[in-house]
Amino acid sequence: MKENWIIDILRSKGFKVTPQRIALIDTTSKAGHASVEQIYKSMKDGFPAISLTTIYKIIGIFLHNEIIKEIHIAGKKKIYEIKKSPHAHHVCAVCGRISDIYIDTKDLVGQIKSKGYETTSPAIYCYGICPDCRK
Ligand SMILES: [Zn+2]
Ligand SMILES: [Zn+2]
Repeated sequence: MKENWIIDILRSKGFKVTPQRIALIDTTSKAGHASVEQIYKSMKDGFPAISLTTIYKIIGIFLHNEIIKEIHIAGKKKIYEIKKSPHAHHVCAVCGRISDIYIDTKDLVGQIKSKGYETTSPAIYCYGICPDCRK
């Protein structure tokens, strides 16, 4: 079964494995970054009776258990992604694409810590032009 990794995540967090929960993680993972409305739209095919409220509820639980992460891009709706290793987000001013950029954030956290702050979730947002639009 191709969704094995999803089942593993759910079980490791003590969740019951349900088709809706699997589908929500699968959809979000495939999209990379998705808004609640996008997740809702793509889940409606498999679960015609699902409501936006249910989606919000599942996302809320997954956020709390750190399966999903919330991303706040200035001037845009909240989007969600499956929790991955630390990365920065780049927002392209031309095509609007949101890209994951994997950089070493240890130094960043260390620098902040040296100023006396304990940072558990550093978030780096960069705004500019993506490699494709620069061509
Ligand atoms: Zn671009
Ligand atoms: Zn991301």
